[in-house]
Order: sequence, then structure tokens, then C-alpha cells
Amino acid sequence: MTALRTGAATDVGRVRTNNEDQMLVGDTLFAVADGMGGHAAGEVASQAAVDVVEAAFNEDPTPEGLIAATQRANREIFDQAGADNALRGMGTTLTAAALVATEGDDGTAERLVVVNVGDSRAYLMRNGELSRVTDDHSVSEELVRSGQLTEAQAAVDNRRHVLTRVLGMDTDVTVDRFDLDPFRGDRLLLATDGLCNEVSDAEIASVLRRIEDPGEAARELVRLAKAGGGSDNITVVIVDVLDDDGRVEEATEALAREPARPQRLPTAAQRDARLRDLDAETRPASTIGNPEFVEAPRRRRLVRFSLFGLAVVLLLALGAGVVLFAQRNSYYVGERAGTVALYQGRPGGLLGFEPKVVRATDIELADLDGVARDRVKSGVTFSSRSQAEDYIERLPTTTTTSTTAPPPAPTSTPP
Ligand code: MG
Repeated sequence: MTALRTGAATDVGRVRTNNEDQMLVGDTLFAVADGMGGHAAGEVASQAAVDVVEAAFNEDPTPEGLIAATQRANREIFDQAGADNALRGMGTTLTAAALVATEGDDGTAERLVVVNVGDSRAYLMRNGELSRVTDDHSVSEELVRSGQLTEAQAAVDNRRHVLTRVLGMDTDVTVDRFDLDPFRGDRLLLATDGLCNEVSDAEIASVLRRIEDPGEAARELVRLAKAGGGSDNITVVIVDVLDDDGRVEEATEALAREPARPQRLPTAAQRDARLRDLDAETRPASTIGNPEFVEAPRRRRLVRFSLFGLAVVLLLALGAGVVLFAQRNSYYVGERAGTVALYQGRPGGLLGFEPKVVRATDIELADLDGVARDRVKSGVTFSSRSQAEDYIERLPTTTTTSTTAPPPAPTSTPP
């Protein structure tokens, strides 16, 4: 049996007020999820992701089962978001790893299978070398992969926060899968972008090399992310391979069998060359090539920080515009003192913008049939006033006999 030891830490960070990250640390299944969406929707999405993946994987603890579990979580979040206005648009990343038995040429072997959707990452520390296992599904990282941006440009590109894949956005999702042979001494790290945006790969590697206890290492990584700004929630799960069934003794042979992946597992020389390219402009010459140098250069930090500030201002302005637009362009039919009323805005308001009554009616809620009454109580939203007016005209009541069918659920959604 492969023996594992784990450690984990999560923190709200220094800017956010709630932690929308989730983590899962089981015996053979591990995950981090970074939720997004208004109000508490991000927390709902990330929680649903780890819950559904855990339950579905337990039913089918295979590599295919882990992929299916991730797709199932995607569907659940998508359906939940579609059924509840307050959760509309929610989504989450998911990076999960599971120890599973797989059938190979030489019988059954245990492998670590990693699956990924979004920009939370898995890293592997092997023989003191850190490599990224997963690819980020963000606009800037896709541009790096297609050769249109360098990694240095991507690190400060605003589009690194724009995700191209996330759980809950569509009925189906493509899930990346990576298989690893676990060797004694391997250290797998799962982390949300709250770590990777604040702490460089070199700093992460230094911590993983220096601190043996996985719990302590996880807490140190979180501490560094907060010291670096802590602008987002931070979640770290570390899985150490303590025993590998003697597999390390066959390491040379096993490594030879592993498919070559030069982009994901750079050699030490490639990695050092890349670090030199990255830092030639900003790092003092005397430190170039010194592997112990882990402090991020100050100037690069300042540039990153001011670009980050600019991005925040632009995003806030954009956000305010979106909220105003959404507020102006949504209507809902809801309750007002026991009667049916037409409101402009969103049920419950949107970021402090309260909905306002644009038409009161004398239709008593008590006169509506049960289904319509429940729907009006929770607010039925429309993207135009005429659709909402139409809905009110056709509301089925219990006191009048009507041959018209109850109004259908709105098919169009507000922007
Ligand atoms: Mg995040």
C-alpha cells in the first residue's frame, strides 16, 4: 500500500471578508476549490464541488470515476445556479487528486490521478525539484500556451484572472487529467490562486524543501501569501508520499516508462534558464543563478502592485456599471403587503441597490393558486417590463375560473 501523510491550511486573506475557498482532505481523495459569485454564491459553489466529488468518487473510486465525479459536480452547480436567482452565475474551480488502483502492463498499481478545471493548481515536488502538474484555464495562460504571451507577461496580465473553464458555467465541462506514479518522498501541493498570485514558484519550492511537516509547510505558505498582500482567499493542501511499496527502488525503470512531458516537467537547466530570463531585468546581477535567493525583486513587486491597483479600480468601475445596468434592466413580480406588485431591480436588491415598486396591483396573494403564490413570494424575474406585465395579466387565481395555463417560468434571464 502507498502510505500518505497530509497537511492543509486555508485563510480568508487580508482583503476579503469571507472565504469562498473549500478544501477536502480525505484518506485517498484531496481537493481545493475556489468559488466565485455574488453574495455567498461562491461559497455555495465551492462547497457543492467538494461535496459532490467526494460522494460520487466514493461510489466509483477510479480515474474515470474521478472525472465523472467532477462532471457531476459541474452539472449540480449549473442546475442549482439556474434554479435560484441568488445563485445565478456562480461557479468554482476544482483541482483534485486521488490515490487509485489502476491496471497496467505489470498488474495493479497505485497512482495519483490529478484532475483540474480552472486556475487552482497542482504542483509536484520530486527530488527537490518543483514542477507544475496542471495547466491554468485562464485567458493569459492559454495565450502563453499558444505562444502569444511570455510567462513574464502573463504574470502581470489582467486576463490571468479571467477563467476560460470553471465548474457551473455550462451543462458540460472538459476535465484535464494527469497521472503520476507516487514515489517515496514525493510531495504533491494543491493550491488556489490566492497562493500562486502572491508567492512565486521559487518561494513555494523553498518552503516545500525546508519544512518537513506537511501541516507546518501549509501554514507557512499561507503566511507568506498573506505577507505578500493576501488579496484573495488562500488554500493549500499538501500530500506527502511516505511509502510507495518499494516503487522508488525501480525508479529509473518507472521514470523511463512515464511519458515525457517537457513543458510540464522542465529539467533543472530549463527551469534555471527561464528564471534567468524572468529576472534578468529586475534582479540584482549578483543574485542571478543563486538558488537560495527567494525574495521577489522589489521593483517587480511595485510594478505588479500598481498594475493590480489599476486593475482593481477598473474592475470596480466596471462592476458598478454592470450592477446599475442589471438593476435598470431587470424586473420582477413579487409581494407587497399581501398583494402582487411589479418591481424594477432584483429580488432582495443587488449590492445595496434596493428594488423599487413600479406598479402596485390589487391582486391578493391569497387569491393565487398555490404554485403561483409561492413563485411570486420568492420573486419571478424578467428581463423586460412587458414580460412581467404579461405575467401579471395571466396569473392564475383560485377565485376565477380560467382556461389559460399557468404562466410558464421565464425563459429569458436578466443580463
Ligand atoms: Mg481565488
